[in-house]
Amino acid sequence: MSVLLVTHESSLGHRTPRGHPERADRLGAVVEGVRSSVVSVVDLVAPAVDRDLLETIHTRAYIDHVHMFCLNGGGGLDQDTYVVPESFDAALHAAGAGPVAVDALEAGAADAAFIAVRPPGHHAERSSAMGFCLFNNVAVTAVYLRSLGKRVAIVDWDVHHGNGTQGVFYRDPEVLYVSLHEFPLYPGTGWVDERGDGPGAGATINVPLPAGTTADSYLAAFGRIVAPVVKQFDPDWILISSGYDAHRLDPLGGLMLEAEHFGSMARWAADQAPNARVIATLEGGYNLAALAESSRATVEGLSGGVGGTSWPTESTGSAKRMTELVVEGLTTYWELH
Ligand SMILES: [Zn+2]
Repeated sequence: MSVLLVTHESSLGHRTPRGHPERADRLGAVVEGVRSSVVSVVDLVAPAVDRDLLETIHTRAYIDHVHMFCLNGGGGLDQDTYVVPESFDAALHAAGAGPVAVDALEAGAADAAFIAVRPPGHHAERSSAMGFCLFNNVAVTAVYLRSLGKRVAIVDWDVHHGNGTQGVFYRDPEVLYVSLHEFPLYPGTGWVDERGDGPGAGATINVPLPAGTTADSYLAAFGRIVAPVVKQFDPDWILISSGYDAHRLDPLGGLMLEAEHFGSMARWAADQAPNARVIATLEGGYNLAALAESSRATVEGLSGGVGGTSWPTESTGSAKRMTELVVEGLTTYWELH
């Protein structure tokens, strides 16, 4: 089994102020991690995103604003999202990576894809930058797939809630958005009662977990909620918002995952083949060693083929109560035992 590695050198040109956690070194750690794996890696260069496609997610005025802001020297778009002149190009290629990965996988270039780009995307809103994110890379990929008539499940395991992605698909029944995240934590959204709206009711699922949640409790929630819902939704594609800030060593998150756990979840996604193809896209993750190890585990999981993953059943404390609260709110829409 082979994995496509999609990236672009412009990702390194997007520089942030000294001491900022979302820094260019992250990309080197991730790519190094992927290349150190035993997996057969097929390289692909990310083109700049198609402007019309980008405008299905972001307003023209916002895209132009980011462009001009960068051209004029950059600075802070909000209190934690900084850009330099090179950032606009980086953001265009980050958003263009998903669609080209879709085309390459459809053409049989590899079995799954891993997208290593920055800036990340899941906090970016329709007309504003947020939380280190400029354009919503995964949302662009999902909309591209929708234009091809595909059903898409987005699994967001970044430690933060993907408010931007949730917002785009909140009323869309053809795109399932599932997020596991620490709560309370930035950006403050992603409570259990955010479940989609109108025709999209039930197609947004939030699993908020308290700081200190153990890997066993986290994976128990994954096995109890995410795995059965995705199976029932029966997507053609699974897009993973693959942040690694739920790793035990991450400076911004308080969850307790290890690299191998990202591998297990990636393996689960790969096991949904041949019904679904999988693309994992880098979001957050701010400890370089954890990023390298977790990226390696992810591509090894993605290349794992059919095997079946078993999840812990023992959840404890407030994580257990949260999991039951999520399940309770979803029984109208999904069969969960
Ligand atoms: Zn994050």
